[in-house]
Amino acid sequence: MEIQLNINSEIAMCLDKMPLYENSKQEIKQAVRKTSIWAKKCKNHHDALQKNIPKNKRQLLFGITQGGIYKDLRKKSIKELKELDFDGYCVGGLGLGEKQKDEYKIIELQKSLLPNNKPIYLMGIGDPLEILEAISRGIDIFDSRMPTQNARRGTIFTSNGKLKILNKKYESDKSPIDKNCNCFVCKNYSRAYIKFLLSQDESVGKELASYHNLYYLQDLIKQAKQAIKNNKFKDFKNKIKKVY
Ligand SMILES: [Zn+2]
Repeated sequence: MEIQLNINSEIAMCLDKMPLYENSKQEIKQAVRKTSIWAKKCKNHHDALQKNIPKNKRQLLFGITQGGIYKDLRKKSIKELKELDFDGYCVGGLGLGEKQKDEYKIIELQKSLLPNNKPIYLMGIGDPLEILEAISRGIDIFDSRMPTQNARRGTIFTSNGKLKILNKKYESDKSPIDKNCNCFVCKNYSRAYIKFLLSQDESVGKELASYHNLYYLQDLIKQAKQAIKNNKFKDFKNKIKKVY
């Protein structure tokens, strides 16, 4: 808690115990137990550290729920964290290998049990369509290494779906990664150049591809927000679903 306050992030996270997907239910139960104990310690210490700071200037603190794909464990975790009254809540421990329908069921359960006036943050999910599916189930915040990891390995997010830039057919392709993208990379470089850099393991290639993938996701979120405002989110999601 002290480290996070020192780096002055807007939102701090509790320490949690993240189980592995292959862990038994008993092990995941232990992770829930430990996560709740730590959440309480984090909350108490975080409150104490900020007790002289005016409320509107305080760093926020989010609690992280665990419980794998087990509804009873998720319910227990949510109940125990809600009692501590965090500024927002995270859905932890998903995207580890569980079936997508199980992931979405847990997200729906979490949304139905968490306070409606607090943001919900789905940790570790970065696939474009998965993000939209989560938004349609009430998730507000995301983070993931996936867009940059994919970029470094040559998988590029585009308006026509995923593009494997290392494919031989892009070797002399002078067009941008995505002609519908307004990012710095698409305005200045060709597919052939990005492919060349990545295939030579040049770090600048990884940076350019990462820049584009992050830009793509930020733009996707902007469009999603606009679509929600215009009451057209479902159409927007279906459009993305066709290419992803
Ligand atoms: Zn771009």
